[in-house]
Amino acid sequence: MAYIQFLGAAGTVTGSKHLINTSSDPSGKDGFQVLVDCGLFQGPKDWREHNWRDTPVPAKEIEAVILTHAHLDHCGWIPRLVKEGFRGAIYATSPTIDLCGIILPDSGHLQEEDANFYNKIKKSKHDPALPLYTLEEAQASLQYFKAAQVGQTVQLSPELSFRFVRAAHILGSCMAEISLTTRGQTRRMLFTGDIGRVRDHAIAPGKVVHSGPTEGEIADLVVMESTYGNRLHPKEDPMPELAALITATAARGGSVVVPAFAIERTQKFIFLLKHLMESGQISRIPVFCDSPMAIKAVEIFLKHDEEYTDETRDMIRKYGSPLAWPGFTFASTAEESKKINAVLVPSVIISSSGMATGGRILHHLAQRLPDPRNQILFIGFQAPGTRGFTIKSKSPEVKIFGDFVPIRAQIAALEQFSDHADPPELLQWLRTFRNRPDITYLVHGEPDASGKMRDVMKKELGWNVEVAQYLEKVEVR
Ligand SMILES: [Zn+2]
Repeated sequence: MAYIQFLGAAGTVTGSKHLINTSSDPSGKDGFQVLVDCGLFQGPKDWREHNWRDTPVPAKEIEAVILTHAHLDHCGWIPRLVKEGFRGAIYATSPTIDLCGIILPDSGHLQEEDANFYNKIKKSKHDPALPLYTLEEAQASLQYFKAAQVGQTVQLSPELSFRFVRAAHILGSCMAEISLTTRGQTRRMLFTGDIGRVRDHAIAPGKVVHSGPTEGEIADLVVMESTYGNRLHPKEDPMPELAALITATAARGGSVVVPAFAIERTQKFIFLLKHLMESGQISRIPVFCDSPMAIKAVEIFLKHDEEYTDETRDMIRKYGSPLAWPGFTFASTAEESKKINAVLVPSVIISSSGMATGGRILHHLAQRLPDPRNQILFIGFQAPGTRGFTIKSKSPEVKIFGDFVPIRAQIAALEQFSDHADPPELLQWLRTFRNRPDITYLVHGEPDASGKMRDVMKKELGWNVEVAQYLEKVEVR
């Protein structure tokens, strides 16, 4: 019987990698092997060390990768898979391929920087410290990508085919419907990847891309994410609070500094600012988007307007390209970035990384954190152990560039901007299924989140649900 093996994002939210093996032999010999997602483990060190271990099956024996979307925890291990001998096709939508074209080389560059840093301070267990993959290796891996259109059936082998349906999580994101036909019997599997918010503009504001995952699915087996299985998103519209925060900061002569993920979150936020200014809810103050990757991503967003919500389409029709909005400055060079330090009038500065673990946001924070007139605004999840978490927890100081910087600026967080559905939204979507799947495996969640999601699905839907375990093999019956 064919089986699925969970090679990542089981017991944790990163490292998504699910292997399907069509072999009728339990050893997996002679089966066709395909990976759904090939993500990087991030966060706690114990998990990150898995990035350095080989897959339990040799990379060259994996014949294809189906990639749901361009977040690093889903695509960031692809260059390593190729480095270890994978030569098959990597199927993704064309926006996902475009986004991977900037994200993977950037990830390779960061891996090289990290290795150089550890070699300089000689703190690595390995001598010399090596990057997981280089920028060049990341670029080389891009040649294996193959575009698949949403809804198009792709035959991978005589018995295995798949098609993408929309997940509405980020630009280009999809779920993979996979069909396995053996001995005249077809089994339908649905791998959700990450699932976007429901179709309610008020509670999922500023969604740049399609709202709501595809409804009316049919599946015998589901592998579903559970990132927010134990949390609820606030249901109030965040816009009045956002407007009030910006207005109050400007009134006291300060600036609003927003650490934001370069892909999707930054784009969403600049659209919201534009809306607040155009509708007169905040006064016109300069806005700086200081992230070369975010700017490249905006260009990719503009290219794929078929992905937009009606609100996004309206806004571009009304105001033109977001890259040419008056009062908005997009800083791509280091010089342009440094110039923002000299801006002493009230402004909004959006920069990455989103959890202040690196990137240009660091010099803005180092400059603006000590002044109580300024406002630091978090619009994304801050993982424990990151600088973003330290600042959000209102610690007295935070270490940046080797110095302790006092935290005197105002700190606020708006939790409504998540791109993951929460349990009520997931249930709303699951209720649109046209059948009751035989089994659902929950992945991509901390153990508590996955456990709570399993319980709520059993209680509310009466479904058969299990939490996937790391390296566990489950039969496709
Ligand atoms: Zn994601």
